[in-house]
Order: sequence, then C-alpha cells, then structure tokens
Amino acid sequence: MLTFKNISIASATALLFVLVAATLFDISYSWCVLIILFWLSFLVWGSSTIQSGFFIKSFSKGPQNLNKIALTFDDGPHPITLSVLELLEKHGAKATFFCIGRQIEKYPHIFQKIIDNGHTVANHSYSHSNNFGFFSSKRVKNELDKTDALIKKQAGKKPTFFRPPFGVTNLHIKKALQKTKHHAIGWNVRSLDTAIESEKAILKRIKARLKPGSIVLLHDTSKKTANVLEQLLIYIKNEKFEAVTVNQLINLEPYED
Ligand SMILES: [Zn+2]
Repeated sequence: MLTFKNISIASATALLFVLVAATLFDISYSWCVLIILFWLSFLVWGSSTIQSGFFIKSFSKGPQNLNKIALTFDDGPHPITLSVLELLEKHGAKATFFCIGRQIEKYPHIFQKIIDNGHTVANHSYSHSNNFGFFSSKRVKNELDKTDALIKKQAGKKPTFFRPPFGVTNLHIKKALQKTKHHAIGWNVRSLDTAIESEKAILKRIKARLKPGSIVLLHDTSKKTANVLEQLLIYIKNEKFEAVTVNQLINLEPYED
C-alpha cells in the first residue's frame, strides 16, 4: 500500500543500495537525488490527496452495493446554509455539514437549524487557516478541541468526524487525530463548486462521477452551490439514489456518548 511509512522505507533502502553501489562500482551518485525527488513527490501527492490514505486512514466512500450517497457541505454555517437546508428538506434528503468553529460563533442560530433539521454536524477546524498544513500537532489539536467544544455546546455531544481544511493531511495532523480520536472524512466526488464558474458545468461534473457509495464535496457558502443543489437533488431522486448522512453511509457513530 502507498503509505508514508512504506514509501519512506522503500526510498531509504534504495538510497542505501545506491550509496553502497556507488562506492563499489562506477555508478553515479546522482541516482540519490532522483530517489529523494521520488520520495518528495510522494509526500506532496499524499498531503494533498486525503483519499489516498498516505498519511491518515480516511473514509472517502461508502459501500458500492447500495444506492446510497452522501452530500457533504464544508465551510459553514453561513447565510447560504439556510437555502441549502430548505432544499434538503423539500427533497427529503439528509446531509453532513463540516463546520468551521469561527463560523459557528458567528452564526449560532444557523448552526442550530442544521442540528434541528436532523443533519449531521462535524468538525472542520476552528480557523480554516490557509497555513493549516504547516501547523504543529499541538496547534491542530487546539483547533479541533475548540470547535468540538462549540459543537458540544449546541448539539450536546462531541463530534467524532473531522475533515481537514483543503483535505490536507500530514504527520502533524495524524498525531493530533491520534489524541482527539476523530475519524478523518474525505470524499470521492469533488464538485469544484468554488472553482468552476458555470453552474451547468458543476452539475455535469457531479453527475458524471456520482456512483453508489459516493461522498460528494460541496460548500454551503456559495449561491451557485445552492442553485446547483436543486437540480442535483432532482437527479438523485430520478436515479433512485438516496442522499443520507456520512454516518449512515459508512456506519460509524458521528458523536461521542
Ligand atoms: Zn473547507
């Protein structure tokens, strides 16, 4: 399996082999540079691809033998969340909201509405800093604890699901999660709803990737997403999919007792 440990052992072994071979035979030391570059490129790929499980075991899809899918909304609560909640209710769908602590403090009533409507709420860090990938494990843990406390204050229970900002993973985040005991939740359908301009193109992209067991990454911070959601929910119904929460899809408890 392509994990940090396996790739590091393989690279170190190759490096040692080249070093010994270069001292005994006419082999160039430049092979060492190539091996280090190979190792580094895996590190970059692994830290930016949560579904790879390179640093952290993550849940990025559910069973493929059932017609269930999970819609997930990141970065709220936000005023747009209200339109998202309305649409989900209209179409009888349940979803999972990965909330930012700072946003919960800003919009506690909207956060409460997500809970009251029966959706799952989960941790998406406190600050959603652009530098989250460079935080120490202590700082990551601090962010998770802070948001857990805010969620517990309103939901009554501590969440067990965490999605790192930007889906970034590394050894510091792994160490923090070992202490906080959160499950890392990824996705296997990236809507790119914050990057793609055309609503039609976003919908087309999701439809092309949606399969039984899919976890779809969306953001309840953009009007565009709310507009796409109505069409997506109609498509989900027509295709006989059932939109459930992540905990229902992967059969894990979303809160601590
Ligand atoms: Zn995010």
